Amino acid sequence: MKILNTIKEARGYLNEIRSKGLSIGFVPTMGALHEGHLSLIREAKKENDFVVCSIFVNPVQFNNEADLKKYPREIESDIKKLKKEKCDLLFHPSAEEMYPEPDNTKFDFGDPDKVMEGKFRPGHFNGVAVVVKKLFEIIEPARAYFGLKDYQQLVIIHKLTKDYNLPVEIVPCPIIREENGLAMSSRNEFLSESEKKQASLIYLTLKRVKIQSGFATISELKESVFRQFKKSKTMKLEYFEIVDLYSLKPLRTWTESNNIIACIAVYIGKVRLIDNIILFS
Ligand code: AMP
Repeated sequence: MKILNTIKEARGYLNEIRSKGLSIGFVPTMGALHEGHLSLIREAKKENDFVVCSIFVNPVQFNNEADLKKYPREIESDIKKLKKEKCDLLFHPSAEEMYPEPDNTKFDFGDPDKVMEGKFRPGHFNGVAVVVKKLFEIIEPARAYFGLKDYQQLVIIHKLTKDYNLPVEIVPCPIIREENGLAMSSRNEFLSESEKKQASLIYLTLKRVKIQSGFATISELKESVFRQFKKSKTMKLEYFEIVDLYSLKPLRTWTESNNIIACIAVYIGKVRLIDNIILFS
């Protein structure tokens, strides 16, 4: 696996790959790789001649300095995992390489950026869009792979590629879970074994919501989820929303949309976890 740290080197190398007529599949990550990330690499390997993974802990998408500082960085074991998956190129730039000067770009994604993650992490998606656009312009992939785990991010990135006519196909990939249902996340590393067990309540709740959706009203379901997390001593529900799959507009009744997803954010101690389940599509 080739490892490159500068934009100039990556551009030069990938120009040659493209000139040979090879298609490039791209998986952007922040590292501390787990099976969720590796599933994206495998999907990209299936559909492209050449696979690029980026590892970059993007400072401008963190709205909390402490969260940025403690974000796990495990480049040596990440490299081993990527080699095992036969990833072709790792792009691993420094923050100075990506942001030689502060980036003041301001995107306006409208309503999808005003709910859930957008509401509770102001500026987060602007930072995501800044780095993803930069990375797309450096790598110029035919396809880019994103996990449904960060569903709202996927909607925002779709909008970014549409708004700026970026010539890349966005490929959504399924959520990979632990055996107990907990969605894999680099942040799970901060959970104790007992917290990991308790965190299975998140997916259990989503599955219950899916079974009851269409029968109970949306407000009854939302209330029951809030009540359930109130009982927990260790977990704190930040939001639970039932929204349109495409516009992310919060719904009051089931008849407002045929495509519906439930999204949740929960704190266990200081660790923030997100998850979702598609209810109707
Ligand atoms: P991150 O390193 O957290 O920025 O994630 C990089 C990519 O991996 C994003 O597209 C995530 O949605 C995806 N991803 C993270 N966790 C999972 C998971 N459990 N299943 C599938 N994709 C995931």
